[in-house]
Amino acid sequence: MSKGRAVSNSTIRYFTAANPGYMTLEGTNQYLLGKDEITVIDVALSSRENIDGIIEQAEAMGGGKIEKILLTHIHSDHCGGALALKKRTGAKMGISRLRANALSGIDFTYADGDAIAYDGGELSVVHTPGHESGHCCFYEGKLKTLFTGDHILGRGTTVIPPPDGDMALYIHSLEKLLALELRRLLPGHGPTIGDPYGKIREYIEHRLMRERQVLKCLQDGCQTISEITAQIYTDTPPALMSMAEFSVEAHLVKLVGERKVKKKSDGYRLTGER
Ligand SMILES: [Zn+2]
Repeated sequence: MSKGRAVSNSTIRYFTAANPGYMTLEGTNQYLLGKDEITVIDVALSSRENIDGIIEQAEAMGGGKIEKILLTHIHSDHCGGALALKKRTGAKMGISRLRANALSGIDFTYADGDAIAYDGGELSVVHTPGHESGHCCFYEGKLKTLFTGDHILGRGTTVIPPPDGDMALYIHSLEKLLALELRRLLPGHGPTIGDPYGKIREYIEHRLMRERQVLKCLQDGCQTISEITAQIYTDTPPALMSMAEFSVEAHLVKLVGERKVKKKSDGYRLTGER
């Protein structure tokens, strides 16, 4: 995806923010839905260029009035420009009820299962904790489209940073999506995913594979997060090793919760329970 355009075969448009990076891929995808009154999902940057870019996309859709901003979660590459867009357009800003006090300028909140009307249809809120405890995806049932934020990315995997990030909840939040009728996933970063169930299953399987690797490392005598990370993430660029350590820690927290692993003063050990 690059800059602003329509999602193919769709009335949905997007504008990709100029914040490319290891974690953000080409930049954050900011989506627009509606006809005359537009709903925007995520606003990454407050720069003039970014706000202008979103408004231009809204104008390409009809009336061009932006009435609502929905935020998938509180990380700055998803909400950093929301207040600026609100100030420019008068749009109302919403976020998960769990994060009602995390940002200034919030006008409304939502929780799992809530319906949010937009000009042209309805979105339902799917609470997907894991990457961030208040993370929400938005499901457009008529279009069988899910806006996934950072829960699922167009390429690579998302980081689960403890203590707010939670691997057990993350895997559960992936499994929960399999119950939806889906034709495509529109991620917060990277390209549209046309094989939703394949991607969701791949994501679940990837995490379970990592969990098996972590258990194997502990069996082989590794004890610390850095030892385990060095064993497993052999092809990972140095810049991403701290993110990899977060993931290993998140797996260990999950395994401790399941009593398969015990945390000791000098590291982690298997308990022998399986
Ligand atoms: Zn992000």
